[in-house]
Amino acid sequence: MRALILGGTGDANQLASALARANIDAIYSYAGRTQIPLGHALPTRIGGFGGASGLADFVREARITHVIDATHPFAAEMSRHAVDACEMARVPLIALERAPWAQATGDRWTNVRDIDAAVSALPDVPTRVFLAIGRQHIAAFAAKPQHAYMLRFVDAPGETSPLPDTEVIVSRGPFTREGDLDLMRTRHIELLVARNSGGTGARAKIDAARELGLPVIMIARPELPARPRAESAEEVLAWLGHEARLGA
Ligand code: NAP
Repeated sequence: MRALILGGTGDANQLASALARANIDAIYSYAGRTQIPLGHALPTRIGGFGGASGLADFVREARITHVIDATHPFAAEMSRHAVDACEMARVPLIALERAPWAQATGDRWTNVRDIDAAVSALPDVPTRVFLAIGRQHIAAFAAKPQHAYMLRFVDAPGETSPLPDTEVIVSRGPFTREGDLDLMRTRHIELLVARNSGGTGARAKIDAARELGLPVIMIARPELPARPRAESAEEVLAWLGHEARLGA
């Protein structure tokens, strides 16, 4: 057996540690988006595969027997390629996918289907917006240049912002409710734009918005082809035919 983890998330790193503890032969793959990816105990490769056929070639050449798609729920291209590549290479695939966040009492969400709908849902009057969506999708918000945008990235941006009024916070999660409350209060944030990532590492801002009574424009997850899913590292280990040995 040799597993391939398509990673880049906290959940993927926890899974990597669990596989290492269970002595499962595995390779971890990063896209290479962040300058210093978090470390873990598995051998690592970095960079795109060259589409679905490139991934299928990699799977065959590296003699991968199981593929685990533990990428971020919004990394849709990689997830689609994983489905196609595993069909081509005839190896089983499972997605480690945390449940999306559900609205709770006190939440003021406007649910939208994608980035463009989030831009349209912004008010016309100038507003202080926490735009918590990842750097690749910022440019679409140039259509609403009247707002003051606060952005939070893992690495300092190299490029000039396409938005006229921005403040960039450089910080790596997981974040705390207290920390995000403080951040949103001191910046006088009036509205949050977020993607429904699910999980615990990124939900602090959602809890903080509820506590501050702020509206949230919540972007739904992209639709993906049907594939087997697990919600925990334990379930993935069971799928691999191993007992879970989680914890320290
Ligand atoms: P994406 O748009 O779905 O992927 C674009 C391309 O990047 C893929 O076609 C693939 O290139 C390459 N790629 C993506 N993930 C890869 C991986 N784990 N290993 C090797 N190549 C990978 O992905 P994205 O939204 O840019 O996300 C990139 C990475 O950042 C992912 O690992 C994801 O888990 C992580 N991440 C993303 C977000 C987010 O908000 N989207 C948040 C946190 C972490 P080829 O076609 O050449 O194979």
